[in-house]
Amino acid sequence: MKNLLEGAVKDVYDELRSRGSPPGEATFCGCPQCEEDVLAFALNHLRPRYAGGTREGVAVTSVDLQRDQTRAELMVAVLDAMRRVANNPRHPAGDTKRRGAAG
Ligand SMILES: [Zn+2]
Repeated sequence: MKNLLEGAVKDVYDELRSRGSPPGEATFCGCPQCEEDVLAFALNHLRPRYAGGTREGVAVTSVDLQRDQTRAELMVAVLDAMRRVANNPRHPAGDTKRRGAAG
């Protein structure tokens, strides 16, 4: 079973990252750890959409992820996650490049 949102959230994240930080927002770090935190946070706050429709008829195809409403929902969740991680990263500020992505 696969949560279809994992790929969709990553797409939205990449899109938002390519736009740069919105005015007035904290600069988002963007290191692998922060990226992972953002994706995890967003996924935890979104209703999962599993392929296969095993529970209560939750049969959602990838088409659902193309809907404007779904995209907007993902955008909000990812932006909120980025804001939280930017304001409270799990690593000391400026200490991101050397550690790399061990994981
Ligand atoms: Zn970082």
